Amino acid sequence: MESKTSILIIYTGGTIGMVRDAKTGALKPFKFENLFKIIPSLEMLNYDIESYCFDPPVDSSNMNPGFWAELAGVIEKNYESYDGFVVLHGSDTMAYTASALSFMLQNLNKPVILTGSQLPLGMVRTDGRENLITSIEIAAAKEDETPLVPEVCIYFENQLFRGNRTHKINADDFEAFRSPNYPVLADAGVYIKYNRNAIHNPNFKKLKVYKNLDQGIAILKLFPGITEITVKSILNIKGLKAVILESYGAGNAPTSDWFIRLLKNAIKKGLIIINVSQCESGSVMMGKYETSVRLKEVGVLGVFDITTEAAIAKLMYLLGNFSDKEKINKLIATSIVGEITTSAG
Ligand code: ASP
Repeated sequence: MESKTSILIIYTGGTIGMVRDAKTGALKPFKFENLFKIIPSLEMLNYDIESYCFDPPVDSSNMNPGFWAELAGVIEKNYESYDGFVVLHGSDTMAYTASALSFMLQNLNKPVILTGSQLPLGMVRTDGRENLITSIEIAAAKEDETPLVPEVCIYFENQLFRGNRTHKINADDFEAFRSPNYPVLADAGVYIKYNRNAIHNPNFKKLKVYKNLDQGIAILKLFPGITEITVKSILNIKGLKAVILESYGAGNAPTSDWFIRLLKNAIKKGLIIINVSQCESGSVMMGKYETSVRLKEVGVLGVFDITTEAAIAKLMYLLGNFSDKEKINKLIATSIVGEITTSAG
């Protein structure tokens, strides 16, 4: 007899796993053993569904690299026993976690689908029920015994996105995520339509898990009027190894001598500075405008169309696992797990 498709639901916390307390009316995490009582239709899916619950569950604002390592560890430990994984997670930092997992779980040949909701499962109008059920269907989907989506994704409000391309765009609407620089991987209507050309192909290699992440990074977001002392203070943070320069448009920044000099000196002293655009869409193209020529000259590295969330995860992963600076610099502008479109320039 053929065995049933098996799915592990990992509950980390967030709105989706909440119910209203009958006495106080406040939202509280529900006991995960009761999942089938809250969503009886899960039984109809005919999969073996088991769950793992972080104790205590966390609001995703408290997410951190230590938690990511634990989460990657749970997937690693259960990797051979399940066909797919659904991670329930607060939406606030879901894009960061999805980005981190994409670098931490390399040679991934099974689906890891993150989802959550804007309204708790215990509320009548919840968006969580559909998000969870469709995520399970996607995590279970196979063709010729091979998973259809062997990558880290976010599923939210009828759309499946590559996790490390995703960005939370709305605090209120059910449609809370978007991946402006990469096509949607699947649309869920009456049928789930997979965009096969956009989805990673499995490589059938052994899963390799990287749990070491280096937090010695900072974001320097530019704004008109930013002062020399602010830039100087950030670049001189003790123990800092890399900075994400959030620049304007296609990677542009002030041309003032003080600004360029500070960057140049910091890079000379060994700091890695990468250029990521503040724009949601489009790509950094160093040298396109005069205002990025000088950045290029002093050694700032352009990272094309990466999201800030993925840039953070990528730097933490690179700094945590490689010591050769040349290699890190090369990998920064190379697509490792589909996080950038390098053909943009
Ligand atoms: N604050 C919540 C969290 O991110 C919001 C949510 O679950 O969507 O954990």
